[in-house]
Amino acid sequence: MQTEEVDAPTVRSLSPSRAGDFKTRPLLYRFRCIDKLPEKPSADAVRGTVVHSVLERLYDLPAPERTTQSATAMVEPEWQRLLEDEPEVAGLFADDADGARLAAWLDSARRLVEGYFTLEDPSRLEPAERECLVETVLEDGLLLRGYVDRLDVAADGAFRVVDYKTGGAPRAAFEAKALFQMKFYALVLWRLRGTVPRQLRLIYLKDRDTLSYSPDEEELRRFSRTLQAIWSAIVRATETGDFRASPGPLCGWCDHQAICPAHGGTPPPYPEGVTILALSPGGPSAGSPAST
Ligand code: SF4
Repeated sequence: MQTEEVDAPTVRSLSPSRAGDFKTRPLLYRFRCIDKLPEKPSADAVRGTVVHSVLERLYDLPAPERTTQSATAMVEPEWQRLLEDEPEVAGLFADDADGARLAAWLDSARRLVEGYFTLEDPSRLEPAERECLVETVLEDGLLLRGYVDRLDVAADGAFRVVDYKTGGAPRAAFEAKALFQMKFYALVLWRLRGTVPRQLRLIYLKDRDTLSYSPDEEELRRFSRTLQAIWSAIVRATETGDFRASPGPLCGWCDHQAICPAHGGTPPPYPEGVTILALSPGGPSAGSPAST
């Protein structure tokens, strides 16, 4: 078995979230991908994780048992499971002596799960994949990877990508990010399966609304060029250490204001020897140290 020793930070792949970070907030990309600074779990993000787990496991049940009651009953066990896997999330409710905040938060998660049943009937669906990792390597060695919430495949082989949104950010920014994410998945799946997804479907659980979109090949080719341009810019920034602060409304959701120049802070020194890893379709092929 081949082992890989990595001492310095390595930049090796692009996910929809990290590409979106670099596009809109390059310094945040640096803090997350190069400095790898920890971030506090937020109540909204953790609730999203619990709700996603419920909707994933709901499809383990026989179709007639996929009811609102059985799904909402899964919320608390999924929260307990997350606590076991990631004990640090307990800190969200550390000062909740009487348990009232936790109870309200669990209720809000149950409402999101209930909302799902107003948009789809899970007893009539048999997803082909749930919470699946998809990845592909572009011609220039860029590894694209991400997790798809659900993949439905029709009898004729047509497929659709489904993503659940639990909200928590300003709607306009959230939608732009979501569409970018869905095109990303569509491009990866087109390359993996040789067919463009017939539909990209976003399910907004909080608003009880859906948004569907059908991409075409030409659009995905353009999107691929966009990703390659973003990657080139990431490589340049990684080589120079020049990641700009880009203050805006989303700073309110950023954990790093104290070290951000846009808010009077000073970032840590740029790490030495950051490596950019290029891949071939067969796997890792080359690692080139950035000239910092
Ligand atoms: S505080 Fe704002 S400008 Fe600074 S890193 Fe975070 S998102 Fe970027």
